[in-house]
Amino acid sequence: MERRAPVPAQTAECCTVVGNLVRISVLLNSVHIFRGTTDFMAYVIAEPCIGTKDTACVDACPVDCIHPKKDSPAYAEEEMLYIDPVECIDCGACVPVCPVSAIFALDDLPEKWKHFTERNAKYFGR
Ligand code: SF4
Repeated sequence: MERRAPVPAQTAECCTVVGNLVRISVLLNSVHIFRGTTDFMAYVIAEPCIGTKDTACVDACPVDCIHPKKDSPAYAEEEMLYIDPVECIDCGACVPVCPVSAIFALDDLPEKWKHFTERNAKYFGR
């Protein structure tokens, strides 16, 4: 019967390092979730959309994450459209089609409209 060679000390250390990296990764993920959805929101619809509600962005979005849509009862009730921060895939397709330049990547969102980040997320209960 073949005998197995003992595990070298370096291999054991390597396993410990990998284990620690996995633990750190899980911890960081937990912190990310704890801090809330708006921290990883990609694109945000801001003030210029109010009263405009042009839906070119809805048609351009490949993952259908901009709401409410024109055929929804909520469309008449809401004063603007919103991007779902969880569903958004960060593609940017909605930005150039907006006639009033209301859509911004989170990093480019003007300071005066920062609160729209939360407003978009809130619409989806995020
Ligand atoms: Fe949709 Fe892409 Fe715009 Fe996100 S960035 S809302 S996925 S079109």
